[in-house]
Amino acid sequence: MKAELKIHSENILPIIKQWLYSDKDIFIRELVSNATDAIQKLVLLEKGEPPFRIDVKVDKEAKTITVSDNGIGMTLEEVETYICQIAFSGAEEFVQKYAHNKDQFIGHFGLGFYSAFMVSSSIEIETKSYLEDQSPAHWTSDGSSTYDLEVGTKTTRGTDIILHVEDEDYLDQEKIREILTTYCGFLQYPIYLNGDEINSKPPLWLKKPSDCEEAEYLDFYKTLYPLEPDPIFWVHLQIDHPFHLKAILYFPKITPRFDFQSSNIKLFCNRVFVTDNCKDLFPSYLNVLRGAIDSIDIPLNVSRSYLQKDAHVKKLASHISKKIADRLSDLYAEEKEKFISYWPDVETIVKFGMLQDEKFYDRSKNFLLWKTLDQNFLTIEEYLASGREKVYYTPEDSKDGSFLTLYKEKNIPVITTKGPIDTALFNFLEQKLSIKFHRVDSNVDEALIDESGEKHEGDFTSLLGLPNVTVETKSLANKSLPAFIVIEEGTRRLRDYLSMTQKEMPQIPLGGQTFVMNTNSPLVSAIFKLKEKDEALAGKLTKQLYDLSLLSQKELHPENLTGFIQKTTEVLEALALKLS
Ligand code: ADP
Repeated sequence: MKAELKIHSENILPIIKQWLYSDKDIFIRELVSNATDAIQKLVLLEKGEPPFRIDVKVDKEAKTITVSDNGIGMTLEEVETYICQIAFSGAEEFVQKYAHNKDQFIGHFGLGFYSAFMVSSSIEIETKSYLEDQSPAHWTSDGSSTYDLEVGTKTTRGTDIILHVEDEDYLDQEKIREILTTYCGFLQYPIYLNGDEINSKPPLWLKKPSDCEEAEYLDFYKTLYPLEPDPIFWVHLQIDHPFHLKAILYFPKITPRFDFQSSNIKLFCNRVFVTDNCKDLFPSYLNVLRGAIDSIDIPLNVSRSYLQKDAHVKKLASHISKKIADRLSDLYAEEKEKFISYWPDVETIVKFGMLQDEKFYDRSKNFLLWKTLDQNFLTIEEYLASGREKVYYTPEDSKDGSFLTLYKEKNIPVITTKGPIDTALFNFLEQKLSIKFHRVDSNVDEALIDESGEKHEGDFTSLLGLPNVTVETKSLANKSLPAFIVIEEGTRRLRDYLSMTQKEMPQIPLGGQTFVMNTNSPLVSAIFKLKEKDEALAGKLTKQLYDLSLLSQKELHPENLTGFIQKTTEVLEALALKLS
Protein backbone atom coordinates (compact mmCIF):
# COMPACT_ATOMS: atom_id res chain seq x y z
CA MET A 1 0.00 0.00 0.00
CA LYS A 2 1.37 3.40 -0.89
CA ALA A 3 0.00 6.34 1.02
CA GLU A 4 0.65 9.97 1.93
CA LEU A 5 1.42 11.32 5.35
CA LYS A 6 -1.15 13.88 6.35
CA ILE A 7 0.66 17.15 6.27
CA HIS A 8 -0.78 20.19 7.90
CA SER A 9 1.99 22.68 7.49
CA GLU A 10 4.84 22.06 5.10
CA ASN A 11 6.75 18.88 4.69
CA ILE A 12 8.34 18.48 8.10
CA LEU A 13 10.91 15.84 7.26
CA PRO A 14 13.36 18.11 5.48
CA ILE A 15 12.81 20.58 8.28
CA ILE A 16 13.72 17.97 10.88
CA LYS A 17 16.90 17.32 8.96
CA GLN A 18 17.94 20.93 8.83
CA TRP A 19 16.78 22.48 12.06
CA LEU A 20 17.73 19.96 14.62
CA TYR A 21 21.25 19.82 13.34
CA SER A 22 23.00 20.41 16.63
CA ASP A 23 20.93 17.88 18.53
CA LYS A 24 21.16 14.98 16.16
CA ASP A 25 22.40 12.56 18.82
CA ILE A 26 19.00 12.38 20.45
CA PHE A 27 17.53 10.16 17.76
CA ILE A 28 19.16 7.17 19.47
CA ARG A 29 17.60 8.10 22.77
CA GLU A 30 14.20 8.37 21.12
CA LEU A 31 14.40 4.99 19.41
CA VAL A 32 15.78 3.18 22.44
CA SER A 33 13.15 4.81 24.67
CA ASN A 34 10.46 3.55 22.29
CA ALA A 35 11.97 0.08 22.46
CA THR A 36 12.00 0.24 26.26
CA ASP A 37 8.36 1.35 26.27
CA ALA A 38 7.46 -1.50 23.93
CA ILE A 39 8.96 -4.03 26.34
CA GLN A 40 7.38 -2.31 29.32
CA LYS A 41 3.94 -2.56 27.71
CA LEU A 42 4.39 -6.26 27.14
CA VAL A 43 5.47 -6.74 30.74
CA LEU A 44 2.41 -4.87 31.96
CA LEU A 45 0.18 -7.08 29.84
CA GLU A 46 2.02 -10.11 31.21
CA LYS A 47 2.27 -11.45 27.69
CA GLY A 48 5.97 -12.10 27.38
CA GLU A 49 8.70 -14.06 29.06
CA PRO A 50 12.16 -12.62 29.79
CA PRO A 51 14.85 -12.19 28.72
CA PHE A 52 13.90 -8.84 27.26
CA ARG A 53 16.53 -6.97 25.41
CA ILE A 54 17.27 -4.13 23.03
CA ASP A 55 19.91 -4.54 20.37
CA VAL A 56 21.55 -1.70 18.53
CA LYS A 57 23.58 -2.83 15.54
CA VAL A 58 25.83 -0.56 13.51
CA ASP A 59 26.73 -1.97 10.12
CA LYS A 60 29.29 0.24 8.43
CA GLU A 61 29.29 -1.76 5.18
CA ALA A 62 25.55 -1.75 4.74
CA LYS A 63 25.37 1.80 6.14
CA THR A 64 22.61 0.89 8.54
CA ILE A 65 21.82 1.24 12.21
CA THR A 66 19.20 -1.19 13.49
CA VAL A 67 17.41 -0.82 16.80
CA SER A 68 15.61 -4.04 17.72
CA ASP A 69 13.45 -4.95 20.67
CA ASN A 70 11.45 -8.00 21.66
CA GLY A 71 8.62 -5.92 23.03
CA ILE A 72 4.98 -5.63 22.17
CA GLY A 73 5.40 -5.13 18.39
CA MET A 74 2.83 -3.52 16.10
CA THR A 75 0.13 -4.81 13.79
CA LEU A 76 -0.33 -3.31 10.34
CA GLU A 77 -3.13 -1.11 11.66
CA GLU A 78 -1.04 -0.01 14.60
CA VAL A 79 1.81 1.08 12.34
CA GLU A 80 -0.70 3.08 10.37
CA THR A 81 -2.16 4.65 13.51
CA TYR A 82 0.91 5.14 15.70
CA ILE A 83 3.65 5.82 13.18
CA CYS A 84 1.82 7.46 10.32
CA GLN A 85 -0.76 9.43 12.22
CA ILE A 86 0.00 9.95 15.90
CA ALA A 87 3.79 10.01 15.77
CA PHE A 88 3.74 12.08 12.63
CA SER A 89 1.41 14.73 13.95
CA GLY A 90 3.37 14.72 17.23
CA ALA A 91 6.57 15.38 15.33
CA GLU A 92 4.87 18.06 13.32
CA GLU A 93 3.68 19.80 16.46
CA PHE A 94 7.11 19.50 18.01
CA VAL A 95 8.81 21.02 15.01
CA GLN A 96 6.42 23.94 15.02
CA LYS A 97 7.08 24.67 18.68
CA TYR A 98 10.76 24.13 18.27
CA ALA A 99 10.98 26.55 15.40
CA HIS A 100 9.78 29.36 17.65
CA ASN A 101 11.87 28.65 20.65
CA LYS A 102 14.81 26.60 19.63
CA ASP A 103 17.27 27.62 22.34
CA GLN A 104 14.88 27.18 25.13
CA PHE A 105 14.13 23.51 24.85
CA ILE A 106 15.37 21.29 27.56
CA GLY A 107 16.11 17.75 26.58
CA HIS A 108 13.99 17.90 23.44
CA PHE A 109 11.54 15.27 24.47
CA GLY A 110 8.67 14.68 22.17
CA LEU A 111 10.09 14.48 18.70
CA GLY A 112 10.15 10.71 18.90
CA PHE A 113 10.46 8.27 16.06
CA TYR A 114 10.74 10.86 13.30
CA SER A 115 13.92 12.32 14.79
CA ALA A 116 15.70 9.39 13.09
CA PHE A 117 15.27 11.23 9.78
CA MET A 118 17.93 13.66 11.02
CA VAL A 119 20.55 11.11 10.02
CA SER A 120 18.74 8.76 7.63
CA SER A 121 17.88 8.82 3.95
CA SER A 122 15.21 6.20 4.54
CA ILE A 123 13.82 4.15 7.40
CA GLU A 124 12.29 0.68 7.50
CA ILE A 125 10.22 -0.86 10.23
CA GLU A 126 9.93 -4.65 10.53
CA THR A 127 7.50 -5.50 13.28
CA LYS A 128 5.41 -8.34 14.61
CA SER A 129 2.77 -7.92 17.25
CA TYR A 130 2.52 -10.10 20.36
CA LEU A 131 -0.99 -10.95 19.08
CA GLU A 132 -0.28 -14.23 17.38
CA ASP A 133 -3.05 -14.09 14.79
CA GLN A 134 -1.70 -10.83 13.34
CA SER A 135 0.61 -10.71 10.36
CA PRO A 136 3.90 -8.91 10.56
CA ALA A 137 4.22 -5.44 9.02
CA HIS A 138 6.86 -3.77 6.92
CA TRP A 139 6.95 0.03 6.60
CA THR A 140 9.35 2.17 4.63
CA SER A 141 9.68 5.85 4.00
CA ASP A 142 12.43 7.85 2.34
CA GLY A 143 11.74 11.03 4.23
CA SER A 144 9.41 12.48 1.63
CA SER A 145 5.74 12.62 2.42
CA THR A 146 4.98 9.13 1.13
CA TYR A 147 5.44 5.76 2.75
CA ASP A 148 4.93 2.06 1.93
CA LEU A 149 3.14 -0.25 4.28
CA GLU A 150 2.71 -3.95 3.55
CA VAL A 151 2.67 -7.37 5.15
CA GLY A 152 6.16 -8.15 6.31
CA THR A 153 8.30 -11.22 6.92
CA LYS A 154 9.35 -10.89 10.57
CA THR A 155 8.81 -14.15 12.40
CA THR A 156 9.61 -13.18 16.01
CA ARG A 157 7.74 -10.82 18.29
CA GLY A 158 9.02 -7.25 18.48
CA THR A 159 10.24 -4.44 16.29
CA ASP A 160 13.34 -3.68 14.21
CA ILE A 161 13.86 -0.08 13.18
CA ILE A 162 16.36 -0.04 10.32
CA LEU A 163 17.94 3.30 9.53
CA HIS A 164 19.66 3.73 6.18
CA VAL A 165 22.15 6.24 7.42
CA GLU A 166 23.37 9.04 5.23
CA ASP A 167 25.34 10.87 7.88
CA GLU A 168 28.53 8.79 7.97
CA ASP A 169 29.54 10.06 11.44
CA TYR A 170 26.84 7.90 12.90
CA LEU A 171 28.22 4.71 11.39
CA ASP A 172 31.07 4.92 13.88
CA GLN A 173 30.37 2.34 16.56
CA GLU A 174 32.28 4.29 19.22
CA LYS A 175 30.22 7.39 18.62
CA ILE A 176 27.05 5.37 19.04
CA ARG A 177 28.47 3.78 22.18
CA GLU A 178 29.12 7.21 23.63
CA ILE A 179 25.61 8.41 22.88
CA LEU A 180 24.04 5.24 24.24
CA THR A 181 26.12 5.43 27.41
CA THR A 182 25.13 9.04 28.03
CA TYR A 183 21.45 8.84 27.27
CA CYS A 184 20.54 5.23 27.86
CA GLY A 185 23.14 4.09 30.39
CA PHE A 186 20.56 3.69 33.15
CA LEU A 187 17.59 2.29 31.28
CA GLN A 188 15.75 -0.64 32.69
CA TYR A 189 16.19 -3.36 30.08
CA PRO A 190 19.56 -4.52 28.82
CA ILE A 191 20.82 -2.67 25.75
CA TYR A 192 23.51 -4.22 23.56
CA LEU A 193 25.62 -2.46 20.97
CA ASN A 194 26.86 -5.00 18.43
CA GLY A 195 26.64 -7.56 21.22
CA ASP A 196 28.25 -5.56 24.10
CA GLU A 197 26.04 -4.60 26.98
CA ILE A 198 25.82 -0.83 27.54
CA ASN A 199 23.82 -0.49 30.72
CA SER A 200 25.07 -3.18 33.06
CA LYS A 201 25.11 -0.82 36.07
CA PRO A 202 21.71 -0.08 37.54
CA PRO A 203 21.12 3.51 38.65
CA LEU A 204 22.17 3.72 42.26
CA TRP A 205 19.62 6.43 43.01
CA LEU A 206 16.87 3.78 42.92
CA LYS A 207 18.45 1.63 45.60
CA LYS A 208 17.44 2.22 49.22
CA PRO A 209 19.97 4.58 50.83
CA SER A 210 20.28 2.26 53.81
CA ASP A 211 21.37 -0.56 51.48
CA CYS A 212 24.07 1.46 49.71
CA GLU A 213 27.72 1.07 50.61
CA GLU A 214 30.24 3.91 50.48
CA ALA A 215 32.14 2.10 47.70
CA GLU A 216 28.97 2.00 45.61
CA TYR A 217 28.52 5.76 45.88
CA LEU A 218 32.13 6.33 44.85
CA ASP A 219 31.84 3.86 42.02
CA PHE A 220 28.65 5.47 40.79
CA TYR A 221 30.35 8.87 40.83
CA LYS A 222 33.11 7.43 38.63
CA THR A 223 30.49 6.15 36.23
CA LEU A 224 28.95 9.61 35.95
CA TYR A 225 32.21 11.58 35.96
CA PRO A 226 35.01 9.25 34.91
CA LEU A 227 37.73 11.90 34.94
CA GLU A 228 36.96 13.55 38.27
CA PRO A 229 38.65 12.96 41.61
CA ASP A 230 36.53 11.22 44.24
CA PRO A 231 33.77 13.36 45.72
CA ILE A 232 33.86 14.45 49.36
CA PHE A 233 30.40 13.75 50.53
CA TRP A 234 26.92 12.95 49.22
CA VAL A 235 23.24 13.15 49.93
CA HIS A 236 20.84 10.47 48.72
CA LEU A 237 17.24 11.65 48.36
CA GLN A 238 14.09 9.63 47.74
CA ILE A 239 10.86 11.56 47.82
CA ASP A 240 7.32 10.59 46.84
CA HIS A 241 5.51 13.62 48.12
CA PRO A 242 4.73 16.35 47.02
CA PHE A 243 6.54 15.11 43.94
CA HIS A 244 8.52 12.10 42.81
CA LEU A 245 12.20 12.49 43.02
CA LYS A 246 15.18 10.26 43.46
CA ALA A 247 18.61 11.78 43.53
CA ILE A 248 22.17 11.39 44.67
CA LEU A 249 24.00 14.69 44.98
CA TYR A 250 27.71 14.85 45.59
CA PHE A 251 29.96 17.59 46.92
CA PRO A 252 32.82 17.48 44.43
CA LYS A 253 36.43 17.92 45.33
CA ILE A 254 37.20 21.59 44.70
CA THR A 255 40.48 21.62 42.82
CA PRO A 256 42.24 24.86 41.80
CA ARG A 257 40.84 24.39 38.30
CA PHE A 258 37.31 23.84 39.52
CA ASP A 259 34.77 25.70 37.43
CA PHE A 260 32.10 27.16 39.71
CA GLN A 261 30.16 28.50 36.77
CA SER A 262 29.44 25.24 35.01
CA SER A 263 26.49 23.12 35.95
CA ASN A 264 27.05 19.37 36.00
CA ILE A 265 24.06 17.79 37.67
CA LYS A 266 22.55 15.18 35.38
CA LEU A 267 18.82 15.33 35.06
CA PHE A 268 16.95 12.14 34.20
CA CYS A 269 13.31 11.55 33.45
CA ASN A 270 12.40 8.02 34.40
CA ARG A 271 15.99 6.84 33.90
CA VAL A 272 16.40 8.51 30.50
CA PHE A 273 19.09 11.17 30.48
CA VAL A 274 17.71 14.60 29.66
CA THR A 275 20.35 17.22 30.26
CA ASP A 276 23.33 18.13 32.35
CA ASN A 277 22.76 21.80 31.95
CA CYS A 278 20.50 22.71 34.85
CA LYS A 279 22.04 26.16 35.06
CA ASP A 280 18.88 28.19 35.47
CA LEU A 281 16.88 25.60 37.33
CA PHE A 282 18.63 25.74 40.68
CA PRO A 283 20.38 28.52 42.57
CA SER A 284 24.03 28.50 41.56
CA TYR A 285 25.34 27.12 44.86
CA LEU A 286 23.35 23.95 44.21
CA ASN A 287 24.66 23.76 40.68
CA VAL A 288 28.17 23.41 42.05
CA LEU A 289 27.06 19.97 43.22
CA ARG A 290 27.31 16.93 41.00
CA GLY A 291 25.21 13.83 40.66
CA ALA A 292 21.92 12.65 39.26
CA ILE A 293 18.34 13.76 39.74
CA ASP A 294 15.60 11.53 38.39
CA SER A 295 12.05 12.80 38.37
CA ILE A 296 9.06 12.17 36.21
CA ASP A 297 7.38 15.26 37.63
CA ILE A 298 9.62 17.83 36.00
CA PRO A 299 8.01 19.02 32.79
CA LEU A 300 10.76 18.35 30.33
CA ASN A 301 9.86 19.51 26.90
CA VAL A 302 9.14 23.09 27.79
CA SER A 303 11.22 26.20 27.83
CA ARG A 304 13.84 27.01 30.41
CA SER A 305 12.23 30.24 31.47
CA TYR A 306 8.98 28.37 32.04
CA LEU A 307 10.78 25.75 34.07
CA GLN A 308 12.34 28.37 36.31
CA LYS A 309 8.88 29.57 37.23
CA ASP A 310 7.47 26.09 37.59
CA ALA A 311 6.26 25.41 41.13
CA HIS A 312 7.63 21.86 41.14
CA VAL A 313 11.06 22.98 40.13
CA LYS A 314 11.07 25.69 42.77
CA LYS A 315 10.00 23.22 45.44
CA LEU A 316 12.59 20.81 44.19
CA ALA A 317 15.37 23.34 44.64
CA SER A 318 14.28 24.31 48.13
CA HIS A 319 13.84 20.69 49.12
CA ILE A 320 17.29 19.74 47.92
CA SER A 321 18.76 22.73 49.71
CA LYS A 322 17.05 21.73 52.96
CA LYS A 323 18.17 18.12 52.74
CA ILE A 324 21.74 19.13 52.15
CA ALA A 325 21.80 21.47 55.11
CA ASP A 326 20.15 18.81 57.30
CA ARG A 327 22.61 16.17 56.28
CA LEU A 328 25.58 18.43 56.99
CA SER A 329 24.06 19.48 60.27
CA ASP A 330 23.58 15.85 61.37
CA LEU A 331 27.10 15.00 60.40
CA TYR A 332 28.43 17.95 62.39
CA ALA A 333 26.43 16.89 65.42
CA GLU A 334 27.22 13.19 65.19
CA GLU A 335 30.66 12.90 63.63
CA LYS A 336 32.40 16.18 64.16
CA GLU A 337 35.86 14.98 63.19
CA LYS A 338 34.66 13.58 59.93
CA PHE A 339 32.77 16.80 59.30
CA ILE A 340 35.93 18.82 59.92
CA SER A 341 37.87 16.66 57.51
CA TYR A 342 35.27 17.40 54.82
CA TRP A 343 35.00 21.06 55.64
CA PRO A 344 37.80 22.50 53.46
CA ASP A 345 36.07 21.03 50.41
CA VAL A 346 32.56 21.81 51.48
CA GLU A 347 32.94 25.29 52.91
CA THR A 348 32.92 27.24 49.66
CA ILE A 349 29.60 25.74 48.63
CA VAL A 350 28.11 26.31 52.08
CA LYS A 351 29.27 29.93 52.07
CA PHE A 352 27.89 30.50 48.60
CA GLY A 353 24.64 29.01 49.75
CA MET A 354 24.47 31.26 52.80
CA LEU A 355 24.96 34.35 50.68
CA GLN A 356 22.41 33.30 48.11
CA ASP A 357 19.70 31.80 50.23
CA GLU A 358 18.59 33.12 53.61
CA LYS A 359 16.90 29.85 54.51
CA PHE A 360 20.05 27.94 53.79
CA TYR A 361 21.91 30.35 56.04
CA ASP A 362 19.50 29.69 58.91
CA ARG A 363 19.93 25.97 58.54
CA SER A 364 23.70 26.08 58.20
CA LYS A 365 24.85 28.78 60.60
CA ASN A 366 25.49 26.28 63.39
CA PHE A 367 28.13 24.46 61.43
CA LEU A 368 29.81 27.40 59.74
CA LEU A 369 33.38 26.79 60.84
CA TRP A 370 36.49 28.93 60.73
CA LYS A 371 39.95 27.49 60.84
CA THR A 372 42.23 29.29 63.27
CA LEU A 373 45.97 29.75 62.93
CA ASP A 374 46.53 27.06 65.53
CA GLN A 375 44.50 24.60 63.43
CA ASN A 376 41.32 24.63 65.48
CA PHE A 377 37.92 24.86 63.86
CA LEU A 378 35.57 27.25 65.61
CA THR A 379 32.10 28.62 65.02
CA ILE A 380 31.72 32.36 65.46
CA GLU A 381 29.86 31.64 68.66
CA GLU A 382 32.76 29.64 70.01
CA TYR A 383 35.19 32.34 68.98
CA LEU A 384 33.25 35.01 70.81
CA ALA A 385 32.54 32.82 73.83
CA SER A 386 35.70 33.99 75.55
CA GLY A 387 34.27 37.48 75.79
CA ARG A 388 35.87 38.91 72.66
CA GLU A 389 33.98 41.46 70.66
CA LYS A 390 35.88 41.32 67.43
CA VAL A 391 36.83 38.44 65.22
CA TYR A 392 40.39 38.69 63.91
CA TYR A 393 41.25 37.18 60.59
CA THR A 394 44.16 36.84 58.24
CA PRO A 395 44.25 35.56 54.69
CA GLU A 396 45.40 31.98 54.55
CA ASP A 397 48.22 32.83 52.16
CA SER A 398 49.78 35.38 54.53
CA LYS A 399 49.46 33.36 57.68
CA ASP A 400 53.22 33.37 58.19
CA GLY A 401 53.48 37.15 58.50
CA SER A 402 55.70 38.21 61.38
CA PHE A 403 52.89 40.39 62.64
CA LEU A 404 50.93 37.33 63.63
CA THR A 405 53.43 36.34 66.30
CA LEU A 406 51.98 39.21 68.32
CA TYR A 407 48.57 37.56 68.30
CA LYS A 408 50.03 34.15 68.99
CA GLU A 409 51.94 35.43 71.99
CA LYS A 410 48.83 37.06 73.38
CA ASN A 411 46.73 33.97 72.73
CA ILE A 412 44.29 35.84 70.58
CA PRO A 413 42.78 33.37 68.10
CA VAL A 414 42.99 34.44 64.48
CA ILE A 415 40.85 32.81 61.83
CA THR A 416 42.13 32.28 58.31
CA THR A 417 40.24 33.29 55.21
CA LYS A 418 40.32 32.11 51.64
CA GLY A 419 39.32 35.04 49.50
CA PRO A 420 36.57 37.34 48.35
CA ILE A 421 33.80 34.93 49.37
CA ASP A 422 34.84 35.39 53.01
CA THR A 423 34.85 39.16 52.71
CA ALA A 424 31.35 38.99 51.32
CA LEU A 425 30.30 36.70 54.13
CA PHE A 426 31.79 39.03 56.75
CA ASN A 427 29.70 41.91 55.44
CA PHE A 428 26.65 39.66 55.61
CA LEU A 429 27.38 38.31 59.11
CA GLU A 430 28.19 41.76 60.49
CA GLN A 431 24.70 42.85 59.60
CA LYS A 432 23.06 39.68 60.84
CA LEU A 433 24.90 39.28 64.11
CA SER A 434 26.14 42.79 64.90
CA ILE A 435 29.70 41.66 65.29
CA LYS A 436 32.86 42.99 63.69
CA PHE A 437 35.51 41.26 61.66
CA HIS A 438 38.96 42.80 61.60
CA ARG A 439 41.91 41.78 59.59
CA VAL A 440 44.89 41.47 61.94
CA ASP A 441 46.68 44.36 60.29
CA SER A 442 43.71 46.66 60.09
CA ASN A 443 44.28 48.24 63.48
CA VAL A 444 46.39 47.75 66.58
CA ASP A 445 44.41 45.91 69.17
CA GLU A 446 44.76 47.20 72.74
CA ALA A 447 45.78 43.76 73.84
CA LEU A 448 48.92 43.97 71.74
CA ILE A 449 50.22 47.11 73.45
CA ASP A 450 52.70 46.99 76.28
CA GLU A 451 51.64 49.89 78.49
CA SER A 452 54.95 49.96 80.29
CA GLY A 453 56.90 50.15 77.06
CA GLU A 454 58.93 53.02 75.75
CA LYS A 455 56.93 55.88 74.36
CA HIS A 456 57.95 58.43 71.77
CA GLU A 457 55.96 61.55 71.39
CA GLY A 458 56.23 63.67 68.30
CA ASP A 459 55.60 63.54 64.59
CA PHE A 460 57.49 60.90 62.71
CA THR A 461 55.63 61.25 59.43
CA SER A 462 58.40 63.42 58.02
CA LEU A 463 60.92 60.69 58.77
CA LEU A 464 59.28 58.40 56.23
CA GLY A 465 58.79 61.24 53.83
CA LEU A 466 55.62 59.91 52.22
CA PRO A 467 53.05 62.68 52.71
CA ASN A 468 50.09 60.31 52.36
CA VAL A 469 51.25 57.73 54.85
CA THR A 470 50.80 58.58 58.50
CA VAL A 471 53.46 57.28 60.85
CA GLU A 472 52.42 56.22 64.34
CA THR A 473 54.52 54.98 67.21
CA LYS A 474 53.28 52.21 69.52
CA SER A 475 54.94 50.21 72.20
CA LEU A 476 54.09 46.67 71.30
CA ALA A 477 54.32 43.66 73.55
CA ASN A 478 56.86 42.12 71.23
CA LYS A 479 60.33 43.45 70.62
CA SER A 480 61.24 41.56 67.48
CA LEU A 481 58.68 43.14 65.17
CA PRO A 482 59.99 46.62 64.33
CA ALA A 483 57.11 47.95 62.25
CA PHE A 484 54.09 47.09 60.16
CA ILE A 485 51.52 48.70 57.96
CA VAL A 486 47.95 49.09 59.02
CA ILE A 487 45.31 49.24 56.31
CA GLU A 488 41.88 50.28 57.35
CA GLU A 489 39.27 47.50 57.22
CA GLY A 490 36.95 49.44 54.92
CA THR A 491 39.71 50.14 52.40
CA ARG A 492 40.73 46.53 52.54
CA ARG A 493 37.25 45.26 51.78
CA LEU A 494 36.79 47.71 48.99
CA ARG A 495 39.94 46.32 47.47
CA ASP A 496 38.77 42.71 47.97
CA TYR A 497 35.58 43.68 46.24
CA LEU A 498 37.44 45.31 43.37
CA SER A 499 39.73 42.32 43.04
CA MET A 500 36.72 40.21 42.12
CA THR A 501 35.97 42.40 39.14
CA GLN A 502 39.48 43.36 38.05
CA LYS A 503 42.25 41.20 36.74
CA GLU A 504 45.07 42.91 38.58
CA MET A 505 45.16 43.34 42.33
CA PRO A 506 44.21 46.98 42.88
CA GLN A 507 46.78 48.97 44.85
CA ILE A 508 45.78 50.36 48.21
CA PRO A 509 45.70 54.13 47.92
CA LEU A 510 48.45 55.49 50.12
CA GLY A 511 45.95 57.58 52.05
CA GLY A 512 44.46 54.39 53.46
CA GLN A 513 47.68 53.34 55.15
CA THR A 514 49.29 53.97 58.53
CA PHE A 515 52.84 52.94 59.21
CA VAL A 516 53.20 51.78 62.81
CA MET A 517 56.69 51.77 64.33
CA ASN A 518 57.24 49.68 67.43
CA THR A 519 59.09 51.74 70.00
CA ASN A 520 60.00 48.59 71.89
CA SER A 521 62.01 47.31 68.98
CA PRO A 522 65.75 47.89 69.36
CA LEU A 523 65.93 48.75 65.66
CA VAL A 524 63.29 51.46 65.90
CA SER A 525 64.83 52.91 69.08
CA ALA A 526 68.16 53.05 67.29
CA ILE A 527 66.64 54.79 64.26
CA PHE A 528 65.06 57.37 66.57
CA LYS A 529 68.42 57.99 68.23
CA LEU A 530 70.15 58.21 64.86
CA LYS A 531 67.60 60.82 63.81
CA GLU A 532 69.25 63.31 66.18
CA LYS A 533 72.64 62.81 64.53
CA ASP A 534 71.98 61.90 60.90
CA GLU A 535 68.42 62.60 59.93
CA ALA A 536 68.97 61.66 56.29
CA LEU A 537 70.21 58.16 57.11
CA ALA A 538 67.47 57.68 59.74
CA GLY A 539 64.99 58.61 57.03
CA LYS A 540 66.52 56.09 54.62
CA LEU A 541 66.35 53.37 57.23
CA THR A 542 62.73 54.20 57.97
CA LYS A 543 61.84 54.07 54.31
CA GLN A 544 63.63 50.75 54.10
CA LEU A 545 61.68 49.43 57.05
CA TYR A 546 58.48 50.57 55.38
CA ASP A 547 59.33 48.66 52.20
CA LEU A 548 60.27 45.62 54.24
CA SER A 549 56.88 45.76 55.91
CA LEU A 550 55.22 46.00 52.52
CA LEU A 551 57.17 42.98 51.44
CA SER A 552 56.35 40.97 54.52
CA GLN A 553 52.66 41.89 54.29
CA LYS A 554 52.57 40.98 50.61
CA GLU A 555 51.86 44.57 49.64
CA LEU A 556 55.06 45.38 47.76
CA HIS A 557 54.16 45.71 44.12
CA PRO A 558 56.39 43.46 41.96
CA GLU A 559 57.36 46.51 39.89
CA ASN A 560 58.92 48.13 42.93
CA LEU A 561 61.11 45.18 43.79
CA THR A 562 64.10 46.33 41.74
CA GLY A 563 63.96 49.76 43.38
CA PHE A 564 63.76 48.08 46.77
CA ILE A 565 66.88 46.02 46.12
CA GLN A 566 68.76 49.05 44.87
CA LYS A 567 67.84 51.07 47.95
CA THR A 568 68.85 48.20 50.21
CA THR A 569 72.27 48.24 48.61
CA GLU A 570 72.51 52.01 49.16
CA VAL A 571 71.55 51.73 52.81
CA LEU A 572 74.02 48.92 53.43
CA GLU A 573 76.68 50.98 51.72
CA ALA A 574 75.92 54.03 53.86
CA LEU A 575 75.99 51.89 57.02
CA ALA A 576 79.22 50.16 56.06
CA LEU A 577 80.88 53.49 55.28
CA LYS A 578 79.72 54.87 58.60
CA LEU A 579 80.99 51.90 60.54
CA SER A 580 84.31 51.40 58.75
P1 ADP B 1 6.11 8.60 21.61
O1 ADP B 1 7.12 7.53 21.92
O2 ADP B 1 6.38 9.87 22.29
O3 ADP B 1 4.71 8.13 21.75
P2 ADP B 1 7.08 8.23 18.94
O4 ADP B 1 6.99 9.05 17.70
O5 ADP B 1 8.46 7.93 19.36
O6 ADP B 1 6.28 8.97 20.06
O7 ADP B 1 6.33 6.86 18.70
C1 ADP B 1 4.97 6.85 18.36
C2 ADP B 1 4.33 5.53 18.69
O8 ADP B 1 4.80 4.51 17.84
C3 ADP B 1 4.61 5.04 20.08
O9 ADP B 1 3.76 5.65 21.03
C4 ADP B 1 4.32 3.55 19.92
O10 ADP B 1 2.96 3.29 20.02
C5 ADP B 1 4.77 3.28 18.51
N1 ADP B 1 6.13 2.75 18.52
C6 ADP B 1 7.29 3.38 18.23
N2 ADP B 1 8.34 2.55 18.34
C7 ADP B 1 7.85 1.36 18.72
C8 ADP B 1 8.45 0.07 19.02
N3 ADP B 1 9.76 -0.12 18.96
N4 ADP B 1 7.61 -0.94 19.37
C9 ADP B 1 6.29 -0.76 19.43
N5 ADP B 1 5.67 0.41 19.18
C10 ADP B 1 6.44 1.46 18.84
